[in-house]
Amino acid sequence: MRECLRCKTKMIENCSIKVEGGGYGIVMATDDKRLFANRIGKPKVAICPNCGEVSIYVENTKNLE
Ligand SMILES: [Zn+2]
Repeated sequence: MRECLRCKTKMIENCSIKVEGGGYGIVMATDDKRLFANRIGKPKVAICPNCGEVSIYVENTKNLE
C-alpha cells in the first residue's frame, strides 16, 4: 500500500504512464554502463485521490541493485 506523502491518503496504485498523443509508455534505464543493457522496466504510477499527488515508482527494485 502506498500512502500519499502529502496527505497520507491511500493512493490508487498500478496506474500506467503514457505519452500523450502516442501509444508509447516510458521506459526507464540507468546510465550506469554496467546496467546499461538492463532496463529497469516500466514505471508505475500511484495517484492520490484526495490531493492529486502523483508518485512514480518501479515494482521490480531488484534491477537496481
Ligand atoms: Zn494526497
